[in-house]
Amino acid sequence: MNTDVQNVARLSSLVRPHILKMSPYKSARSEYTGTKGIFLDANENSFGSVIDGSFNRYPDPLQLEVKKRLAHLKGVEVEQIFLGNGSDEAIDLLFRGFCEPARDVILTCPPTYGMYKVSADLNQIFIWEEPLSADFQLDADRVIARLTDQVKLIFICSPNNPSGNSLDPIAIETIIKAAPGLVVIDEAYIDFAPEKTKLSWLKQYPNLVVLQTFSKAWGLANLRLGAAYAHPFVIEILNKIKPPYNVNGLTQQMACEALDQVEKQEQMVAQMLEGRRWLEQALPELEGIQEVFPSDANFLLVRMKAAERVYGLLLAEEIILRNRSQVQLCEDCLRITVGRPEENH
Ligand SMILES: *Cc1c(COP(=O)(O)O)cnc(C)c1O
Repeated sequence: MNTDVQNVARLSSLVRPHILKMSPYKSARSEYTGTKGIFLDANENSFGSVIDGSFNRYPDPLQLEVKKRLAHLKGVEVEQIFLGNGSDEAIDLLFRGFCEPARDVILTCPPTYGMYKVSADLNQIFIWEEPLSADFQLDADRVIARLTDQVKLIFICSPNNPSGNSLDPIAIETIIKAAPGLVVIDEAYIDFAPEKTKLSWLKQYPNLVVLQTFSKAWGLANLRLGAAYAHPFVIEILNKIKPPYNVNGLTQQMACEALDQVEKQEQMVAQMLEGRRWLEQALPELEGIQEVFPSDANFLLVRMKAAERVYGLLLAEEIILRNRSQVQLCEDCLRITVGRPEENH
């Protein structure tokens, strides 16, 4: 086991050098963090807001109240949590913190979530792809065979979008052990899966980043809140480069309310799982359905005859599915989100 000094030295070597050196923006609210007093430091409107409600003060840049609740719920330290404007912001900041444009590489295992590639393209980072198998599983040996020091980030989405299945934890762990760079496990759908979160692995693996989101099981997609869990040094880098007030105060307040109602989230997850089971039974009865892939998420990937045509016909009925039929390994497939019972029927 490495000492933490060794871990930090290793992680420092992965950060883009100019980011290690730069000093971040110091916002008024990060210089003075007290809550009492007369605040004349941030050029806010001291009279209040134009609309009902108090929105005139800048929010907590480090979202401590949300993080305290999350730390308690997830069994991690506050220092291991980054919060972003959706997990998409965390993905983008990982690129900006760790990947040198026109030089560094990320590795993904398609078919998978589209934002990894979009962020890579936006940040001018090379992308190497090592496809999943035909049954959407991870081949650790093939991934590891491609690793070099240039590969700064490996994205593993489990349960995977759009296939819905959980990826083999042993393969994931083998990759984390072998990776010179960071391994990002995207757990956007973990609350729907029997497979456990890999948050407990953070203790062993300083190069692990786990992403979760409030957009799916918590039903808060509109608020834009995502979390990255990682070694405190990685979190410090993300905090250093994020926009100062990246998560607005209303979102922080609503997230605290949600986190005080974990049972409600569990109830809703149970309802969605029931809906998924219903769809898993009902769909194969329909004509033209070839395969309903096993899912640990709140959606199903379904292979069918004439997927493109079915997609168009349903669209005309104002039923909107996700057309994945042009995606590698998802030929003739549509992705169906589990809806309310009346929507599923
Ligand atoms: C929906 C989803 C997200 C969530 O992104 P947010 O920006 O937090 O809304 C992240 N990863 C995957 C794989 C997803 O499907």
